[in-house]
Amino acid sequence: MTAQNNPNHVAEPKTIKIPPVYLYPFAEGDGKNKKLLGGKGAGLCEMTQIGLPVPPGFVITTQACLEYFDGGFKLPEGLTDQVRQAMSQLEKSMNLGFGDPEKPLLVSIRSGAAISMPGMMDTVLNLGLNDETVRGLIKRSGDERFGWDSYSRFISLFGEIVLRISSDLFHNAMEALKKERNAANDMSLSSFDFQGLVETFKRIIKDNVGKPIPNDPYEQLFMAIEAVFASWNGKRAVDYRREFKITPEMANGTAVNVQAMVFGNVSEHSATGVVFTRNPSTGENVLFGDYLERAQGEDIVAGIRTPKPILEMKQVMPEVYRELSKVRKTLETHFREIQDIEFTVENGKLFILQTRSAKINIAAGMKTSVDLVNERLITKEQALTRLDAAQLTQLMYSQIDPENKTPPVTVGLGVSPGAASGEVVFDADEAERQSKTHGKKIILLREQTKPEDIHGFFAAQGILTTVGGKTSHAAVVARGMGKPCVTGAVGIKINALDESATIGDHKIIQGDVITIDGTSGKVWLGEVQMVEPEFSKDMNTILKWADEFRRLGVRTNVDTPSDAAKALRFGAEGIGLCRTERMFNATDRIGIFQEMILADSPEDRATTLRKLQPLQKEDFKAMLRVMQGFPVTIRLLDPPLHEFLPSEEEIQRQIDTLQKSKVALDNVCRLPKILRTLDPQLEPFLTGDQQVLNSLARLQKSELDKKLETLQKIRVLKEVNPMLGHRGVRLGITYPEIYETQVEAILEAAAELIKENVAVKVEIMVPNVCTAEELKRVEELIKRVEKQVTEKTGVIVPYKFGSMIEVVRACMRAGKLAEMAEFFSFGTNDLTQATFSFSREDAENKFLPLYNQLKILQDNPFEILDVKGVGRLMSITVEWGRKSRSNLEIGICGEQGGEPSSIEFCHAIGLDYVSCSPYRISIARLAAAQAAIKEKKGELKPFK
Ligand code: PEP
Ligand code: MG
Repeated sequence: MTAQNNPNHVAEPKTIKIPPVYLYPFAEGDGKNKKLLGGKGAGLCEMTQIGLPVPPGFVITTQACLEYFDGGFKLPEGLTDQVRQAMSQLEKSMNLGFGDPEKPLLVSIRSGAAISMPGMMDTVLNLGLNDETVRGLIKRSGDERFGWDSYSRFISLFGEIVLRISSDLFHNAMEALKKERNAANDMSLSSFDFQGLVETFKRIIKDNVGKPIPNDPYEQLFMAIEAVFASWNGKRAVDYRREFKITPEMANGTAVNVQAMVFGNVSEHSATGVVFTRNPSTGENVLFGDYLERAQGEDIVAGIRTPKPILEMKQVMPEVYRELSKVRKTLETHFREIQDIEFTVENGKLFILQTRSAKINIAAGMKTSVDLVNERLITKEQALTRLDAAQLTQLMYSQIDPENKTPPVTVGLGVSPGAASGEVVFDADEAERQSKTHGKKIILLREQTKPEDIHGFFAAQGILTTVGGKTSHAAVVARGMGKPCVTGAVGIKINALDESATIGDHKIIQGDVITIDGTSGKVWLGEVQMVEPEFSKDMNTILKWADEFRRLGVRTNVDTPSDAAKALRFGAEGIGLCRTERMFNATDRIGIFQEMILADSPEDRATTLRKLQPLQKEDFKAMLRVMQGFPVTIRLLDPPLHEFLPSEEEIQRQIDTLQKSKVALDNVCRLPKILRTLDPQLEPFLTGDQQVLNSLARLQKSELDKKLETLQKIRVLKEVNPMLGHRGVRLGITYPEIYETQVEAILEAAAELIKENVAVKVEIMVPNVCTAEELKRVEELIKRVEKQVTEKTGVIVPYKFGSMIEVVRACMRAGKLAEMAEFFSFGTNDLTQATFSFSREDAENKFLPLYNQLKILQDNPFEILDVKGVGRLMSITVEWGRKSRSNLEIGICGEQGGEPSSIEFCHAIGLDYVSCSPYRISIARLAAAQAAIKEKKGELKPFK
């Protein structure tokens, strides 16, 4: 009896597993959900739904991609059925059939993650072609050449992307054919040529994978989907995510877009192009980009032919140009952001294939932010938050000196502004080697770049290509990175065989220095004079707006009046750290300072310090005068004393040389005596020489004795761990006369300025404090000196007394320290060193890169504040410090004070200011405003 006909059998409830929805047609997908649909897929959905001409298709979700990885590289169950269903919908809407030999539907398969990673993942075009459907395509288009051209492109792309065959094999076969036909480019090849190429490409595939390219369109489709999924973990995508710090929270897996093909290479009235809704280099409000007639999308990006500026389309295809301009407006109004659009024109009809927020450089970001506010498309807050504060350093790039008269050797297209000089390197691996191993400045010179050259971009100062336009791979990537780039420099011929290039009569080999200007496109041999950049009007507007929103103050770390003046121009509101030791290093005082270090007794030391005091006083006066009443935080001497002396090796070398010359001189000294013995009549001629020689020998001896004494002192001062040794306040305790002299110089400088009616605000800061007792002793020392200065000058100088917080114990004793200190300043360079027990001198070039690579640490904590460890200590310090002194002023002066995410943290824990180098002040102003806006919107990360 079977279970079914047994009357007592109770059927077990069947659990039917309904697979998740793995794909969405463009007409239905939620265009706001980039995480699920990827940026490209979301954009296609959004555009379809606002009525723009988008070829139909569907997007396979990033969830499917992640499940593909989790399931051991198997397409998740249910996906293939959903794809087949969606394909039959697509067939209906296009009135074509996938694999139909009469009316074949062809599709493109494109990647698209939540965060745009241009060119980092893979695309397959013309999928669905085989020996039968190509005939249908020819029939449908009425163009035999087009049919074979499309088929050959499909085979090479499928071979390269899906079957992982080197693209060089297809490229070389194409080049050989062009050479045989004497064709300048693919336009001159005939239908017959392409048909032959199809056979050649098929052979390449068979030879390399041992079997032919699949004929079945669905087999092609599923293989292509898997290949695109896999490209998420390809080397270049992984490198790109690491470089740009794209975390899984930001983008996890790639979506796959399957879209009906439209053809830009089908007729004279067909074209393909990439345009930006505004100029991505300058922000100018004009349609900007290139197009290529009779071409497919990839041709533009790959820079296969040099495309035409989009403005030319106005004449050639006026209708399409007008429509494109309309699309531009619609997209900007809809997305309220500058868009980067890919389009195709098939037989005079415009199709939009992609839109995404354009990667524009920061100069363009500034201008468009200001313009979009003026056009009432965005608010001031949005204008500030859409900018990447870290990129502001790009505006600090040098420009070619306008006075430069050297004529360029060639001119290409300036596609990413800024100027750069460096040694020419022809290959990305070599660029990386030269830059990393030899610390060289590099200009990467290539015919065109490809996504696999990405590491060469990271390594190079600038990029120069001989082919390609404003939207070629090189241009897009360089612009995204803010590196100067010149493309389409057709005057340069690269000779791949001997790794050289010629520009006119000049031959260039690796290592020759050239200069490029990514604004004008000019190229020079050798180095060209450059100038520092000016702040633009837009930048000033943005920073003014930033100042309206930010709560954090922005100070600067400088040690000279000229840097202080520069910092003021950039918007500094005070000096957060003046490292006084740098003043001792100036050439007119290092000798005196060394004398002071070598002194045997406190009295001798005090005598030498007397000589330094007036010099220091003048330095402080100049600095305080420049700062016009803004606070100036002066740190008492910090580094270990041996840093001011020559190295042991250096002094030993000098001693060796002196000793060798002493032997020679001793021999010479004996010479007159020998001569006298030989001939007593020489006596009158020798007396004078003997005296000279004797005094020379005495001089030499005293020099040698001095050096030996210095060597002795260097050995005494030598420490195993100098950064954890005799430095900072410990110096002030052991050599109080050093701090006394410094404090006297500071207070006298201030007193003299006060007498001149110059506003001054002095803050005296003690470095490397561990205990309250240390701070107390320095406070007493200062009070003693203050009394003397008041007596001497008759002026009471107001000043603040504070402590650096750069030792873990200081954090733990914050409450006690704040009883004396009126301010704290986090020295996060040392505090990071102390928290991790990583030597700041060695970690960065020893193990940190590997730690980052292995993701043991996400970032370099000496660059980006380690919020979880160092940050935790900081927030405890703030809390305990303010508990004992509610108006305790707290800032940060470590390197991280100029880094946007660290600034956001400083805002969140309630610091009063950040202090950074002059060139990072604008970053700090903007990042501080962004933090305040985020807080207002309740978007600040909880830092627990
Ligand atoms: C610090 O430690 O963060 C700091 C600013 O001091 P220095 O780098 O001079 O040690
Ligand atoms: Mg320090």
